Amino acid sequence: MTALLDVRDLRVEFRTRDGVAKAVNGVSYSVAPGETLAVLGESGSGKSVTAQAVMGILDSPPGHVTGGEIFFQGQDLLKLGREERRRVRGARMAMIFQDALSALNPVLSVGEQLGEMFRVHRGMSKWEAKSKAVELMDRVRIPAGRQRVNDYPHQFSGGMRQRIMIAMALALEPDLIIADEPTTALDVTVQAQVMDLLAELQREFNMGLILITHDLGVVADVADRIAVMYAGRIVETAPVHDLYRRPAHPYTRGLLDSIPRLDRKGRELYAIKGLPPNLMAVPAGCPFHPRCPRARDVCRTDPPPLCTVTGPGLTVSRGAGDAGGTGGAGRTSACHFWKDELHA
Ligand code: ADP
Ligand code: MG
Repeated sequence: MTALLDVRDLRVEFRTRDGVAKAVNGVSYSVAPGETLAVLGESGSGKSVTAQAVMGILDSPPGHVTGGEIFFQGQDLLKLGREERRRVRGARMAMIFQDALSALNPVLSVGEQLGEMFRVHRGMSKWEAKSKAVELMDRVRIPAGRQRVNDYPHQFSGGMRQRIMIAMALALEPDLIIADEPTTALDVTVQAQVMDLLAELQREFNMGLILITHDLGVVADVADRIAVMYAGRIVETAPVHDLYRRPAHPYTRGLLDSIPRLDRKGRELYAIKGLPPNLMAVPAGCPFHPRCPRARDVCRTDPPPLCTVTGPGLTVSRGAGDAGGTGGAGRTSACHFWKDELHA
């Protein structure tokens, strides 16, 4: 099985007056056609910057890709010119952002914005494009699409706007969608509806989906695999159910223990102590060691490599995985003491 997307050892730096922030520090992950990869981590761990580098929309300067490869359908995107890159975006990969109100154009009607995708990329007439826009509005279950196609973004609710963003992303039937905190700004009930819709359309179109979130609770039902990021690195990858059942990194366990759970009602919610590091001054050794309940001397000096995690009762790799933690059902952890964590 060839990967749809294969990110290898990606590095991104932000060079500012205050110094150099290594926002992405050797990240590798892959997504198979039709697969959903959740990328999880606290705010500031480099999830969005990785996605922006993949999409080719990095804020540059100050951001610079300083290393790595981004293979998409076998082609290294970092070797493409501006114009070629722009053609991949929209048609073959699309992004959904957290904040639809600032991502949508406030002075164009929803129909015009959806229709533009078809006019620009498919050369359709205005009339054809509008009927396609209505079709898309139906697809994402916006009620009364035909009546509402001339309305402006601010006339829709937050949940409906997020559906419009999904419609925009789906318009050209891309092979990969990156959804960056797509439901974070919504009410809990609307969150679930939008997430269900996204998962349903992803299955129907057999798209690869990267779902970025800081909320483990959101991804349990929709993701196939999870990659956990900390301080610009991937610290654990695993099939979603394995990770929930038996995390192999103390950071992942900390995230799991901080989800509110019905069966632990009344108990005080756990919070990982301390704060994520400033990316201009990441601690030596394992970047998580100052916050880690398992930290020992070696953790303060030696950066842990991403190890293959094996053990009885874990999902066996289906063959597409590799020790670099980039695919398949295999597991990896960047902890010196992953065995202790796994058996804790
Ligand atoms: P998150 O995991 O919350 O999505 P980001 O990927 O957005 O985190 O950001 C990771 C880090 O990259 C930030 O903590 C910051 O140090 C740096 N960064 C991101 N965007 C910029 C920017 N436009 N200018 C300077 N630094 C940035
Ligand atoms: Mg982000």
